[in-house]
Amino acid sequence: MTFDYDLFVIGGGSGGVRAARVAAATGAKVALAEEFRMGGTCVIRGCVPKKLMVFASGYAEMCDDAQAYGWDVTCGAFDWPKFRTQLHKELDRLEGIYRKLLSNSDVEIFDARASLKDAHTVTLSTGQDITAKHILIATGGRPVLPDIPGAELGITSNDIFLLDELPKSILIVGGGYIASEFAGILNGLGVKVTQFYRGAQILRGFDDEARGLVAEGMRDKGVNLHLGTNIVEMRAPTDQDLTGEGMSAPIEQGKPTSVSSGKPVKGIWVKATNGNEAIYDQVMFATGRAPNTEDMGLGDIGVETGRRGQIIVDDYSQTTVPSIYAIGDVTDRVQLTPVAIREAMAFVQTVFKGNPTKNDYEMIPSAVFTQPELGTIGMTEEEARDIEPVEIYCTSFKPMNHAFAGRSDRVMMKLVVSRETRKVMGCHIVADHAGEMIQLVGIAVKMGASKEDFDRTVAVHPTMAEELVTMKDPVRSA
Ligand code: FAD
Repeated sequence: MTFDYDLFVIGGGSGGVRAARVAAATGAKVALAEEFRMGGTCVIRGCVPKKLMVFASGYAEMCDDAQAYGWDVTCGAFDWPKFRTQLHKELDRLEGIYRKLLSNSDVEIFDARASLKDAHTVTLSTGQDITAKHILIATGGRPVLPDIPGAELGITSNDIFLLDELPKSILIVGGGYIASEFAGILNGLGVKVTQFYRGAQILRGFDDEARGLVAEGMRDKGVNLHLGTNIVEMRAPTDQDLTGEGMSAPIEQGKPTSVSSGKPVKGIWVKATNGNEAIYDQVMFATGRAPNTEDMGLGDIGVETGRRGQIIVDDYSQTTVPSIYAIGDVTDRVQLTPVAIREAMAFVQTVFKGNPTKNDYEMIPSAVFTQPELGTIGMTEEEARDIEPVEIYCTSFKPMNHAFAGRSDRVMMKLVVSRETRKVMGCHIVADHAGEMIQLVGIAVKMGASKEDFDRTVAVHPTMAEELVTMKDPVRSA
């Protein structure tokens, strides 16, 4: 049987673009369909615009620090429209690079939505049917609104980069990394931020001490964080709400409309599980993401999906239909760009290079770009001590740059060490540039370095990271 292509990739995000390019480099005839913008979540509405907003939000503190260091500077107001214009110019540039990379690799691009007709055929939204020997689904995921009355009045991370103006106040709902990062970003940009999380502490799954220090740091910087709290109900304000004590929102042109007078009002009335009622300019939900598997014909052709809609794959990213593979967020394994890229590389090794390759999910370093930032690799103290006896080396201190500037920010460096093998099982850093640090220390931890290997490494002085190699005694054994 002959096919139009050797490989048809659905989705032009981190995983799909990499798989298409690398497969094409083996001489395979490759096509890719993207329904929105090339680059996917990471480039268009995830990692990249978020990190640029993290940078933007840091300048107010830097201005204060500059004064403390003797500079005669004053920071004016943040100009959101100016930043947003520049941001989108940069995203357009990056999208252009992705398109060029694909076309230079001879990957044919279809700007269309694709669904599956059978094990070797995709149907495009243009009506065209295309056949391929292998199909790779890399359609990622999307934010979902929770099942709360009035939730449709809220926005998600997708909308935040497109706002016409920055809200004066925002309620961010969620305790994961996206919610917590945007709480820090918007707080830094001068928005009055309240964050609700229904759990006992933000950043579930990360090391408890690290989570605690991040939450404390966020509060110190001005985020009004409420734990064990959720929204009961939200709606457009009534005129009575607007004149009620402690609740005032300017009546301006905008959405939604007052439920009592029908006049346009700005703001959303929210009732919380703690009984508080308040009006916020915006409510942003970062309470969950769902895989993009709807209306793709997956079930009809036998591609199995899980309870949350994620595509079920084996260790080689193969679905229950042998000619169809899936990688990245749509499989709900580890939802990070570098993981989607590695799954793409392993897929190409397996299918196009005759070298069956499983992806390695052990010891994945990652960063949370909260303020303060968190870098992490390996097991948390809580996970490790459930497995074997461990020693905990941990230090928390005020770094010299912050101490000089009179800031209260503290840094934490923590190593979780196996008592038996002496291997470093986990490393957790809360500090400026923790993401950069964890990338480097992650190499040693991934290689299986022991605590004594760390100790043998000469400190780089004066740095924050030198503490990682100078911690003498464990703070506790567990
Ligand atoms: P995606 O990048 O989501 O790409 C999927 C593409 O498929 C999309 O372009 C979509 O339009 C397209 N598509 C969907 N359905 C169809 C269809 N039927 N036909 C055609 N095209 C279709 N990760 C990190 O590593 N570091 C970070 O700092 C980070 N920050 C993030 C911040 C936010 C706000 C978000 C939302 C995510 C962040 N991530 C981060 C996660 C990261 O963006 C994802 O893990 C990564 O983009 C997954 O890549 P993917 O290829 O699986 O899917």
